[in-house]
Amino acid sequence: MSGVPVRDSYRAIELYAPDRAPCRIDLSDNTNCWGVAPAVEAAIRDASLTTWTRYPNLYATSLKDALGKYLGVAAERIVTGCGSDDILDSAIRAFAEPGDVIASPDPSFAMIPIFARMNGLRSVAVPLGPSYDIDADAMLATGARIIYLCSPNNPTGASLSRSAVERVIERASGVVIIDEAYAEFASVDLSPLALESDRVLVARTMSKAFGLAGLRIGYATGAPALVAEVEKSRGPYKVNAVAERAALAALGDGLDWAREHIAEAKTNRERLTLELAGRGLAPIPSEANFVLVPITNANARARHMRTLGVAVRPFEGLPAVSEALRASGGSALRISVGPWDMVDAALIALDATMGGR
Ligand code: PMP
Repeated sequence: MSGVPVRDSYRAIELYAPDRAPCRIDLSDNTNCWGVAPAVEAAIRDASLTTWTRYPNLYATSLKDALGKYLGVAAERIVTGCGSDDILDSAIRAFAEPGDVIASPDPSFAMIPIFARMNGLRSVAVPLGPSYDIDADAMLATGARIIYLCSPNNPTGASLSRSAVERVIERASGVVIIDEAYAEFASVDLSPLALESDRVLVARTMSKAFGLAGLRIGYATGAPALVAEVEKSRGPYKVNAVAERAALAALGDGLDWAREHIAEAKTNRERLTLELAGRGLAPIPSEANFVLVPITNANARARHMRTLGVAVRPFEGLPAVSEALRASGGSALRISVGPWDMVDAALIALDATMGGR
């Protein structure tokens, strides 16, 4: 036993440390493989010295205004944070007492059970249905204080059905968090639900469609009183001044660049899905900037692909919620979508693990 006097409920939590060793072509973390808009590069290059030497705005007021314009909602309905990780962690802390239950789909975003335990909550995983939609009644039956939903869901890539999400919102006794980190790539926009209920928080990020993962900018929308509680929990100065300046450029002169690359990501996603299906695999139809393909021995294949210079994200032990995942024994590869030459390199490396090309 370690002699460090940490909380008992905290001691067993392990450091989140996935394999992030640099790789020639990295399609493992769903970031923007095209980079960032030229306007963002210019904004960072031209930042004045005081951007570094002075504290940033306490709660990123200018960014809230710009996000409000982008989303078409009032700035008082927005809270920002150091990545949407920070938003999710702060919300969990704000809306549940230690010992309360948070329910999340299985599989879904791996950080949720970790944030739950960090904040002393009990995390209950509810398997997705066979079409990768949530089982609304099973989620409600947990009696959770917080229900976390993710649409499009990571790692399946599938959007949730509006009807199932609405059923959860109507009947949930506590707060419903809808994580829309990949919203820009999807045909289903659940964010209007945050305008209709004072218990719905929709979390989003600038790490994916806008390419700002390294600058750590997340945000959420919800009723003014709800986002105010997340802001209190989050604390001051979480969006640094360089990041705020870059985000303003991304949402301003950089917006057309983002839209063009979102469109290209969607085209390449469909092409990748067809290529995988053409190999006799059963990729899950995706609404995000990645594709999950059930396939046996994912860990070994990902290691092999790495030796060929391509990083993808392997999963093993996923619940067998569908025929494809049953057939692969719960093993799957998640491949991020980028420029076609990168995706093609991933296909060539995948073929090598299957003894082909
Ligand atoms: N939610 C989901 C579903 C994600 O996949 C990610 C990134 N992997 C995040 C939230 C966190 O993103 P960030 O903290 O970079 O905003």
